[in-house]
Amino acid sequence: MHINILDSKNSILNKFIAEIRDEVLQKDSLRFRRNIERIGEIIAYELSQSLTYNSEVVNTPLGSKIIQLPKKDVVLCSILRAGLTLHNGLLNYFDDAENGFISAYRKHTSETEFEINVEYFASPNLDGKTLILADPMLATGQSLVSVFEGLKKHGTPKEIHLACVIGAKEGIEYVKKHFPKNTTLWIATIDENLNNKGYIVPGLGDAGDLCFGEKL
Ligand code: URA
Repeated sequence: MHINILDSKNSILNKFIAEIRDEVLQKDSLRFRRNIERIGEIIAYELSQSLTYNSEVVNTPLGSKIIQLPKKDVVLCSILRAGLTLHNGLLNYFDDAENGFISAYRKHTSETEFEINVEYFASPNLDGKTLILADPMLATGQSLVSVFEGLKKHGTPKEIHLACVIGAKEGIEYVKKHFPKNTTLWIATIDENLNNKGYIVPGLGDAGDLCFGEKL
């Protein structure tokens, strides 16, 4: 698996990451969602440089120009619910993409242990396509791996891109072991630790709750 850590070079991305982490600023849910979306847009731009391009002729009112344009084979799949906002950011740039949505949640078997329940799949066929799988928080990596296992029944993509905002080292190792070689991880930033509840530390807290409010 190839890994691209986007904050390894300083850019305006750092400001958006700082604002989603900041315990005061992150309470402004409109700003929080918009920042996740902006990070999705930056990931889309970076990822776009690795796609396949074809020459196409564009006619202007004054003439024509051959332009290299990305192949229209992108399928953008996101894990509900936190993935929705990141999905929007990616879709702002990959506006021709087909879209898929998958639900995954942690079902706790004890205070510190959980299994991942994947229930709802709404995905187009993936055969030969460029799959972008979005999940903002790559904590244990189990959600991404379980969702990908389920997606296999929808076909075999040509290449896989994982789009994430914050990842824990442990989760990245897990994902590396379980995804095929033609997978690239695009991640805004990486943290050292997971706590005993599987949350990223320092992370930002619960991304789904910060986007959409607490759930029962
Ligand atoms: N999901 C989150 O929203 N936050 C974490 O830290 C881990 C998983």
